[in-house]
Amino acid sequence: MFNRVDERIIQAKRLWLFLDYDGTLAEFAPTPDHINPDPEVISLLTKLAAHSRLRVAIVSGRSLSHIQRLAPVPGIFLAGSYGIEFQTPTGELVNRVAYATVRPYLDGLKPQWENLISRREGFYLEDKGWTLAIHARFAAADEAEDVLAIARRAACESVHLESFRLLGGHRFLEIGPQLAHKGQTVAYLLEHYSWKDALPLYVGDDDKDEEAFEVVKSKGGIAVLVSSAPRRTIANCRLPTPQATRYWLESFLDI
Ligand SMILES: [Mg+2]
Repeated sequence: MFNRVDERIIQAKRLWLFLDYDGTLAEFAPTPDHINPDPEVISLLTKLAAHSRLRVAIVSGRSLSHIQRLAPVPGIFLAGSYGIEFQTPTGELVNRVAYATVRPYLDGLKPQWENLISRREGFYLEDKGWTLAIHARFAAADEAEDVLAIARRAACESVHLESFRLLGGHRFLEIGPQLAHKGQTVAYLLEHYSWKDALPLYVGDDDKDEEAFEVVKSKGGIAVLVSSAPRRTIANCRLPTPQATRYWLESFLDI
């Protein structure tokens, strides 16, 4: 599989790299508010950004302010909150949803979620501004399942699901605007910042990235999953670890 993918990469006139951050470029942080810029990632992104045949976009679920600190690299796109907020290579800041239309709903829900997880071990509420998330990675499995089910019901009663969406994951629940969608973000960037003859390539590690895989493949591009465990995916091929991803991307500099 990789031979065919590598062949397409070698033959492409230009490559637009869409890269998730956590679990893809860098190993997972212990908690989501842990911001520890990785010099190896920054060095790699700097070299990729300087290559005339390559364009780089980081597409992350983290807030834009986190991503700006983790990837302080000029000349690349930084998309945070699944692409609701992004920074262009020239430093322009774009919000795709009006904050004032989002926040009142999240402010209504937040105390309910806070109340639900208070006095429980292993839960963490993250307020990213545009979205709210409950992380339960360190909670007991049964309790995590029950609490996240209650949190989901509370969210459905508090917000209009026509304008918001729930994002799931392993012991994880998040609510944000409908545009908190990596696939729609990739489609938006390809349309509004089109780069003639560029082959889009998306690298990511979880189910939120699968939404982007679908879009990239529909545009004739390549989707790469980062995972060492067997998993259902629509990706064209897979890499086992963030370290292997960095090594593979580094090879693009020699093409
Ligand atoms: Mg990830």
